[in-house]
Amino acid sequence: MNAIKKIPLKDRYRILTRELDWKTTYQPPEKVFPDAAFEGIKIRNWDDFNDPFRLTMDAYWKYQAEKERKLYAVLDSFQQNNGQTAITDGRYVNALKLFLTGISPDEYMAHRGFAHIGRQLPNAGLRVAAQMQSLDELRHVQTQVHTIAQYNKHFSGLHSFRHMHDRVWYLSVPKSFFDDAFSAGPFEFMIAIGFSFEYVLTNLLFVPFMSGAAFNGDMATVTFGFSAQSDEARHMTLGLEAIKFVLEQHEDNVPIVQHWIDKWFWRGYRVLTLVAMMMDYMLPKRVMSWKDAWNIYFNDAGGALFADLARYGIRLPKFADVPAKEVDRLSTEAWAIFYQYTHAAAFHTWIPADEELDWLSQSYGAEWDRLYRPRFEYWRQLEKDGKRYYNNALPQLCQVCQIPMAFTEPDDPTKIAFRESQYKGDRYHFCSDGCKNIFDH
Ligand code: FE
Ligand code: ZN
Repeated sequence: MNAIKKIPLKDRYRILTRELDWKTTYQPPEKVFPDAAFEGIKIRNWDDFNDPFRLTMDAYWKYQAEKERKLYAVLDSFQQNNGQTAITDGRYVNALKLFLTGISPDEYMAHRGFAHIGRQLPNAGLRVAAQMQSLDELRHVQTQVHTIAQYNKHFSGLHSFRHMHDRVWYLSVPKSFFDDAFSAGPFEFMIAIGFSFEYVLTNLLFVPFMSGAAFNGDMATVTFGFSAQSDEARHMTLGLEAIKFVLEQHEDNVPIVQHWIDKWFWRGYRVLTLVAMMMDYMLPKRVMSWKDAWNIYFNDAGGALFADLARYGIRLPKFADVPAKEVDRLSTEAWAIFYQYTHAAAFHTWIPADEELDWLSQSYGAEWDRLYRPRFEYWRQLEKDGKRYYNNALPQLCQVCQIPMAFTEPDDPTKIAFRESQYKGDRYHFCSDGCKNIFDH
């Protein structure tokens, strides 16, 4: 025992990820790792991959156990003190419903996905890192469910979140994002989730939800957010190291990886439509507008990242200019859909109050006032007259992102965008060039 304890962490990591690995003898490697080659990724030397965190399993369990102890102590006191009474306004709980039905089940799919690629990647370092991320994601879904359980005792509509995830129309948007990544090969999964999602887009998902919780008095959600934060740092580093490793290994990998970046950037951005709506319409106390969040977390941070990746021959994702064109209307187009289909959604919707309409026009300018304020005022009048508007027709969905076809042309906010492709005699419909490009490929 003493002899083992004296080995420094760095050496223990080397032993775990190098000397514990072995060459197969009675089966060829391609039978042991059947998914490693079909995507066309070429690896010259697997030993070039190094997980910068170099965590051993015993150190991992020690850190995670400490975080769990702290989190559950806070959750206990939240429950004993009826922390749910401290939220700004009952409407805030709708944001929690969206999180629990739309995000938590995806943490579970991320857990399954990393467990899967942890089996499929023929390198012990990547396998160990994938195993740890798989365990992290399982921890995330568990801590989220345990935290929100307290709200379930006091508010309706938080039951059956997993059942809803598989059946409710708008939840097919995040669900299909993770299911599609899961059914791809191991390298694409790593680029889709490890890089595009964790590294490029995760701040636009978690910062709005966690600051939204903080601003609206939900200290329990803030605590699970903090508890996941240090895991997130490890996930982001893994995603970045993995993409650099793949790009450095062979020049033939560059166009394959570029297409995955284009694809998963666009898929992720479409999922973020739900976050844009949450930020601008669902938080009783706003944190910042979707537009400000996009500028800070994608334009500034993403711009620096892609400048750094340029030396590998990687450019900004295709259609990365479109979100800036849609930034003033994305949240409003989404809220307008949900307002019309509240009877088929797992949360409530409402017409923004006057001061909220003013906040929107301050955030989005005169064009917003001209195009969208009259629509809300019209719907508000209908509601007053006892004729609250519900849309009872089924909307057509984009075949790729699964969102109803209500997005408008990037250069014309008054015209619905409509794209189509024919394949084997059938016609398919898309909300955008980004989604059509994915389907055509
Ligand atoms: Fe997670
Ligand atoms: Zn689409």
